[in-house]
Amino acid sequence: MDPSATDAASVGGFVITGLLCCGGSLVSAFIGGLIGNRRERGWLGGFLGLFLGPIGWIIALFLDYPYRCPFCQGGVPKGSQVCQKCGREFKPKPAEPTASP
Ligand SMILES: [Zn+2]
Repeated sequence: MDPSATDAASVGGFVITGLLCCGGSLVSAFIGGLIGNRRERGWLGGFLGLFLGPIGWIIALFLDYPYRCPFCQGGVPKGSQVCQKCGREFKPKPAEPTASP
């Protein structure tokens, strides 16, 4: 038995396993980011994919938009003027006051 050869093999296996895990996590985070990006939450999807893997992707699929309709509380894409759920028109924020002094 040559202990050094066994060590080298186990270290090599450890490195390969680590690389596979890291690569898998990065790919997983990337896919999660792509899914989250559909709801303008790419970073959150990336985190979910990184830590939870395929489970994180599923959670990312159910992510809602970060903005909500003031009438029906439905998720609304950023910059949208009309709610996709209830069809009401709204402004994201009243920028100019109606009555000026
Ligand atoms: Zn609405």
